[in-house]
Amino acid sequence: MSEMEFRDLKTQYQNNKVQIDNAIQGVLSKSNYILGQEVVEIEKRLADYVGEKYCVTCANGTDALQLALMTWEIGKGDAVFVPDFTFFSTGEVVAAVGATPIFVDVEWETCNISPESLSEKIEEVLKKKNLMPKAIISVDLFGLPANYTALIKIAHKYNLLLLEDGAQGFGGRINEKKACSFGDISTTSFFPAKPLGCYGDGGAIFTSNDSWAEKLYSYRVHGKGSDKYDNVRIGMNSRLDTLQAAVLIEKFKIFIDYELEKVNEISEWYNQSLRGIVEIPFVGEAFYSSWAQYTIKLRNEYERNRIIEVLSKANIPTAIYYKKPLRKQEAFTNVERLEDSETVSDRLCKRVLSLPMHPYLKHEEVKVIADIIKRTCC
Ligand SMILES: *Cc1c(COP(=O)(O)O)cnc(C)c1O
Repeated sequence: MSEMEFRDLKTQYQNNKVQIDNAIQGVLSKSNYILGQEVVEIEKRLADYVGEKYCVTCANGTDALQLALMTWEIGKGDAVFVPDFTFFSTGEVVAAVGATPIFVDVEWETCNISPESLSEKIEEVLKKKNLMPKAIISVDLFGLPANYTALIKIAHKYNLLLLEDGAQGFGGRINEKKACSFGDISTTSFFPAKPLGCYGDGGAIFTSNDSWAEKLYSYRVHGKGSDKYDNVRIGMNSRLDTLQAAVLIEKFKIFIDYELEKVNEISEWYNQSLRGIVEIPFVGEAFYSSWAQYTIKLRNEYERNRIIEVLSKANIPTAIYYKKPLRKQEAFTNVERLEDSETVSDRLCKRVLSLPMHPYLKHEEVKVIADIIKRTCC
């Protein structure tokens, strides 16, 4: 069989080429490359969809997180609680603004931040009195919203701000409430491989708070005041290109018309073929995932290596998200003394495996993948 795609952006483009080419051509004709009309339009559409008053787009999902922390004036001496099992950005931005990331263990089933571990870590920081607890960053890992009922209670109890990192979560929901509307501020990423991706880097910040939104518009353009040459704070240069906004307007239509439902159908194909063979992804009652990844759990590293090898021989790509918990990243070695005992995050790092997942995956392809896994596991 020819090489299968882990996330097939080529077919997505070919199937929607006319609209996307026209959208790009439209921007080229107007040559309004920075903060053009398309940026305003996609911001309005995304804010309406998510159910927040404001969507402020920016250059990428990492900047989106950092701009939120800057808006809250989080910095030196502040503690920000982040899951230990996530992409590096979630912790990176905390250190980038001078605050201290406190790594919190995750739940085995959902791979999302554990409310129990979070409460324990907050109590620990309060007892030590060296840092001021300020915020929690929750991640909607692999497309599944975190446990917001529990997280919002904890945030209220300790008077902490909640920042939802929805880089992988856009399109997910709990009952009818959409991902990227659970945080006091929420963010997402339009990196091409994310559930809603553009053709380069891009990101967005969501909130319903008027004064935070005003600051976010300022911070993304050099801390501008009345205009770009009146600078009232130290900001960033972090805008979404008009070209990317034009691509997103088209891709957002496809996403809500077709892609989001399709990845949920494909996840069911996988579930049906793999249930009982490996540990399939857990999606709780009332939760809806946007399937940024379809991630199974194997019995041990040995079994995982064998499956990777056999799939790879059949030209089927896989990926390990993530091999290392944040607290063990070299960049963070000065942040925290390592715990000796093995955590849930450690175990996940050894046992997770993400399989090809995208809206253009065919039923036969899922069957081929599942058959190989069945043969290798049994
Ligand atoms: C991708 C990702 C980011 C960063 O987004 P970029 O657009 O690549 O900067 C942040 N957090 C999580 C959980 C991500 O998966």
